[in-house]
Amino acid sequence: MSCKVAVIGGGASGLFAANIIADSGIFVDLFEKNSDVGKKILATGNGHCNIFNKSISVEHYAGRGVSEFVKTIFNAFGFKKFSKLCSDMGLLLDIKDDGRIYPLSYESKSVVSMFENAINSKKCVNIITDTSINKIEKLKRGFVLFDDKNKKIGFYDKVLIATGTSTAFHINGQSNGFKLAESLGHRINTPYPSLVPLECSDIRVCRRMEGVKIFSCVELYVDGSKKESICGDVLFTKYGLSGFAVLDISQKASFYLSKNRSVELIVNLLPKMDKQRFYNHIDRFKQKYKNTDILTVLLGFLPKKISKTLLYILKTDSDLSASDISKKTLKSLADLIFGWKFEITSTHGFRYAEVSGGGVDVSDIDAKTMESKIIKGLYFSGEILDIVGKRGGYNLAFAFASGYLAAKGITGQLEGAVLR
Ligand SMILES: Cc1cc2nc3c(=O)[nH]c(=O)nc-3n(C[C@H](O)[C@H](O)[C@H](O)COP(=O)(O)OP(=O)(O)OC[C@H]3O[C@@H](n4cnc5c(N)ncnc54)[C@H](O)[C@@H]3O)c2cc1C
Repeated sequence: MSCKVAVIGGGASGLFAANIIADSGIFVDLFEKNSDVGKKILATGNGHCNIFNKSISVEHYAGRGVSEFVKTIFNAFGFKKFSKLCSDMGLLLDIKDDGRIYPLSYESKSVVSMFENAINSKKCVNIITDTSINKIEKLKRGFVLFDDKNKKIGFYDKVLIATGTSTAFHINGQSNGFKLAESLGHRINTPYPSLVPLECSDIRVCRRMEGVKIFSCVELYVDGSKKESICGDVLFTKYGLSGFAVLDISQKASFYLSKNRSVELIVNLLPKMDKQRFYNHIDRFKQKYKNTDILTVLLGFLPKKISKTLLYILKTDSDLSASDISKKTLKSLADLIFGWKFEITSTHGFRYAEVSGGGVDVSDIDAKTMESKIIKGLYFSGEILDIVGKRGGYNLAFAFASGYLAAKGITGQLEGAVLR
């Protein structure tokens, strides 16, 4: 096949796809606007790179039309295939008990190095850095690409757009992928940050507890009805709430905020206790240490900054003695401890988000090949699509799986097992 392919974006998806395309001997130009490829990969998993997950299902993803799309993709490309391809590249993996996969080196650098090494060993891939593709012109047959100075870059039979999004733009810079997709007739569903800290209306309260991390159960309420509940660490910050439980719940919270809906989190700070045990504990404590102050009582089961903030909200002196705690104060304390309501005003923004929800509408993409249904020869993969994963390696898994299918679509090697 005498064909030339352009891959736009040297991130997880573009690098993976370029390597597979090159296996067929097809010439690939891979364009990366930064001076190095794989910059975002380096930041993943706190530098350890949670690269995949052993158990993947539709429930791990969100997006318009997610269900069939994700099912089709992961029916065709799962962990077995991924680990075989990594092993072929010399990249060995480790599986955690909970199914998260990491490189055996636990260094994201090794992922980028092994991808680059595999690509460079094939003579038909040209990695072109410091080149931002700003325009794609569709010809009757093929495409012409232009850079950001409107300079013609070249002619390509097929083009893969794997530009990611503008999340964490301090790492990668801004992506213009949505603009490219739109200029070729694709619909973009409103992007929103995901896996992102949340800001709350009463920042004075959160600020008092800044830096405190506590295992809690968090419930998400949208316009007063419960949508999700997740247990895990909550971290109080000077602007609101973060920590794994909040990041996990942030996808839905952010989606509804982007639709101007009212979003609240109800935080249970002591999920391992219940109100009755709490009352019994205080009663026993009061009998034994009646002169001890209320702050000390709370320190028996809550961090100091949280205890002080609770008393501040209830306008209660921290030196009030245990025996003087009224029933009303005790009930107000219990209500807050087991169901503290935080009104969420916004997310902390794209800069602090790990991924973006929204993006190129997948109903215009063939999930078997990742080819555009609007323009033949045009392909999409990775985060630019309106598919967003949960924490746990699901976003990189999607970037690799969709990149793999795009590569197979481009090279025409569709596999029989792709779809039921
Ligand atoms: C801090 C952080 C930690 C994360 N940790 C994890 C994790 O542990 N596990 C996980 O599964 N996911 C993680 N993610 C998410 C994951 O990194 C992304 O979902 C994934 O990198 C998306 O891959 P991609 O190839 O689609 O996009 P990207 O990796 O963003 O790559 C796109 C590339 O395209 C380039 N580009 C953009 N526009 C152009 C253009 N016009 N011309 C040329 N080049 C262009 C960009 O510079 C970039 O290099 C994390 C994200 C962040 C920010």
